Amino acid sequence: MLKTIIYARYSSDKQNEQSIEGQIHECEQFAKTHDMVIIKHYIDRALSGKTDDRPSFLQMIKDSSSGLFDAILVYKTDRFARNRYDSAVYKAKLKKNGIKIFYAKENIPDGPEGIILESMLEGFAEYYSAELSQKVKRGIKENIRKGLSFGGACPFGYKIVNKKYVIDDEQAPYVKKIFEDYAKGRRAIDIFNELNTLPNYAGKGRKWNRSSLNRMLTNKKYIGIYELEDVCVKDAIPSIIDEALFNKVQSRILFNRRHTTRAKVNYLLSGKLFCGLCEHSMTGKTGTSKTKVKYHYYVCSNRHCKQKKYRKELLEDIIIQYTVKDILNPKHFKMIAKKCLEIQQADNKINDILLMLKKQLTATKTKINNLMNAIEAGIITTSTKDRLEQLEQEKYKLELEISTQQLNSNRLLSEKQIIYMLNVFYNKRVDVSFYNQIIDCFIYKIYIYSDKICIVYNLNNSDKDVTYSDINELYKSSHLNSCGSPYDL
Ligand SMILES: [Zn+2]
Repeated sequence: MLKTIIYARYSSDKQNEQSIEGQIHECEQFAKTHDMVIIKHYIDRALSGKTDDRPSFLQMIKDSSSGLFDAILVYKTDRFARNRYDSAVYKAKLKKNGIKIFYAKENIPDGPEGIILESMLEGFAEYYSAELSQKVKRGIKENIRKGLSFGGACPFGYKIVNKKYVIDDEQAPYVKKIFEDYAKGRRAIDIFNELNTLPNYAGKGRKWNRSSLNRMLTNKKYIGIYELEDVCVKDAIPSIIDEALFNKVQSRILFNRRHTTRAKVNYLLSGKLFCGLCEHSMTGKTGTSKTKVKYHYYVCSNRHCKQKKYRKELLEDIIIQYTVKDILNPKHFKMIAKKCLEIQQADNKINDILLMLKKQLTATKTKINNLMNAIEAGIITTSTKDRLEQLEQEKYKLELEISTQQLNSNRLLSEKQIIYMLNVFYNKRVDVSFYNQIIDCFIYKIYIYSDKICIVYNLNNSDKDVTYSDINELYKSSHLNSCGSPYDL
C-alpha cells in the first residue's frame, strides 16, 4: 500500500473549475483502484488568482522529506504547479525524497512530449543548482583544508580552539574505547547506556541514544578526514582512531543494518503499468520464497484476474532496454529536441500571466494615486489609511510575482541544451539508479498481456490519450510485440 497524501487547489476567479470536494472525490476514487491509502489532505483555497499563495503546497514539499508518505495524488496536472518551470523544480525535489506524483484525471496539456520537455528542464534545474554549489564548495574546501570549524556541534572527543579542532584529552580515550567495544561486538544499547552513566558526557543535558552513537561511529573526523557535502580532505584534523579500527566498525554497522532494516523498495513502474487482461493497474508486492529470500513482483491489483506476477528487476530491465532501443537513441535526439522546442514556442501561458499581472499592477497604482489625492484633499480617516497600506502591500506582491514570472519566461531551453540533456540520459542508461528518470521521462503507459508487452512512449502525434481499446485494436491488426508511438520514428 502506498502511503499517499492528496493535494487540492482551488482559485475562485476561474470558472468551471472543479471544487475542492470534487477534486478530493476524484482522487479518492483513483486511490481505491491503485493500492493507495490516503493519510492526509493538503488544501489551498486561493482567494484570488492575483498572487500565487500556496501555503499548503509549500508545507507539503517541506513534509516530503520526513518519510511519512510515499506518493502525492492530485486531480490534474495543472493543480500541481502553475507553470512548467515551477513544476520541474518541485518535481526534482520530490524525486530526491523518493516521492511519486499521480494524477487522478490525467490531462497532459501539450501532449506527452511536454513530459519529456519537463524532464529536460528538471535536468537543467539540477545542473544549475549543482554549478552554483560548486562556487560555494570552493569556499568550503578552503576552510576544510585549514581544518576550520563551521560552527555547530563539536564531535565528542574534540574541542574547538581558535576555530580549529583539537583533541580533548579527557574525552578522547572514551572515543577509542567505544570504537573498540563496538568492533568487538558489544551491543549498541549497552554502549550508550554506559555513556549515559558517565558525567560530562554528551553535555548540554542530551542523552546518548542509538542514532547519536551511530553518528559517532560513522564520523570520519575521528580518522582525520574532514567531510562536508561532497568535499573531503584527508588529515585535516588530528585523528583519534586508526583506520583499521574504523573500517572494522563500518563493516559491523553495515552487517547489522542488513539484518535489521528493510530497504524501501522503489517500484519504478507503479502508476504506469497496467494489466492487459483486465485493464486494472499493476502494483508492487514483496514475497518471500521457501528459502526465506525476498522477491519483488508486479501483480495485477484485481484479485480475480488471472494475470501472472512479474519479477520487478527483470521487468524493469526489459522496459529500459526497449526504451533505449526505441526512443532514447541518439538517432532520434534531433527529432525529440524539435518536438520539445515546438511546445516551448507555443508556450504562451507565461506571457498571458505576465500581461494579466501587469494590468493588475497598473490598476493598483491608479487606486493608490486616487487615494493619495483624497488624502491631500483632506479626506483622511482610519479606514483610508488601512486601505492605503493594503494597496501598498498588494503592489509589492504583484511586483514580486512579475519578476518571478519574468525569470521563468527566460528559462527556455535551446535545441543544443535539450540534445545535451538527452545525451546525459543516454550515457546514464546503464546506471540502475537512473532508471527512474528514464522511465518517468519517456514512458507513458505499459500494458502487459500474457504473451506480449506493449509500451506507449511519450512521443505522440495526437493529444488523444492512448487507451486500452486503442491498443487492442492495434493488436488485432498486427503482430507487434512492442508497439511504440504512432509517430514515425
Ligand atoms: Zn488483471
